Amino acid sequence: MSSTTTDQAPTLVDIPADLLPLILLPPLEVLPDARARGAECVWGGEPLSTATAIDLGERETDNGHWFPRACRPCTHRAVLAARNDHPGRCEQCTDDAGICETRRALHALALGLRR
Ligand SMILES: [Zn+2]
Ligand SMILES: [Zn+2]
Repeated sequence: MSSTTTDQAPTLVDIPADLLPLILLPPLEVLPDARARGAECVWGGEPLSTATAIDLGERETDNGHWFPRACRPCTHRAVLAARNDHPGRCEQCTDDAGICETRRALHALALGLRR
């Protein structure tokens, strides 16, 4: 009964569905095909594998849907940007940012993505 798992894959980060809309993506029209398909990071164009890609959920476009994916460092930057941008748009944060669930969730997500 040995449990020596030394070659564990890095934990994939799941972005909660209610936070996805807060993470701003580049406009689909300007993206090269590989980024629009999710083969490359939607922000930086880094090649992605299923082991490293972070799923950014299903996004709607004028004529359909797409499933952007991204690498971890770019996702981290984008989540930080969303967190910093959030209080300006949130009534709860204007009152008291300390009790805003959304801000807290974005903050926790950013910490989870940091390596
Ligand atoms: Zn990237
Ligand atoms: Zn807030």
